[in-house]
Amino acid sequence: MAKIKISQAANRERAPEIYRRLVAEYPDIHCTLDYHSPFQLLLMTILAAQCTDARVNIVCKDLFKKYKKPQDFVDAPLEDIEKAIHSCGFYKNKAKNIVATCGILLERHGGEVPRSMEELVVLPGVGRKTSNVILGECFGVPGVIVDTHCTRLTNRMGFTKSQDAVKIERDLMKVWPKETWTLFSHCMVFHGRAVCTARSPKCSACCIRDLCPFPDTKEGQKIAK
Ligand code: SF4
Repeated sequence: MAKIKISQAANRERAPEIYRRLVAEYPDIHCTLDYHSPFQLLLMTILAAQCTDARVNIVCKDLFKKYKKPQDFVDAPLEDIEKAIHSCGFYKNKAKNIVATCGILLERHGGEVPRSMEELVVLPGVGRKTSNVILGECFGVPGVIVDTHCTRLTNRMGFTKSQDAVKIERDLMKVWPKETWTLFSHCMVFHGRAVCTARSPKCSACCIRDLCPFPDTKEGQKIAK
């Protein structure tokens, strides 16, 4: 991955325009997990690790018909939960994490999903990315969500030079306006799927082509369409 150097001041200046154009390009932008409560989203984000949101949505349709609240997961035989989530991959670990997380929700939070990063990141199977999804989506607390699309696109756009999620999150928090953090992150996913794909980004058709340094790099000239 080409390391693109742009000053923090320049990044702060161009970030709002990049955001404005991407939001205009994807007016239907949203979290691609179909959840109906913070509890559902919490479990879905645990299941979404190394799995597609589309698969998680399918699995959770049946899962949430059978198990509706934390107590239902704690009371269920572990093998039943493993079977229900099998197709999401890493099902043994994910089932264990779901049951342990539900136990903590009951013990410490009255069965509710906590509203702070500190309380969320200690739940089994929940990291900063998951916590930021929940905080931003359910509680209106802006958070930068660093996934594989965000990592690739923000490196190409020159917002960061890191591949480390925590460092990227920190870099983006410095240059993206705070109120845009959650939606800007979703923009990365939508744009990453539609245009700025991993193997052959369609730079010539990209709405932020003039604001992105990647097509002018050696790597960009090799792979961009
Ligand atoms: S110009 Fe190319 S590399 Fe930059 S965001 Fe658009 S598609 Fe991605």
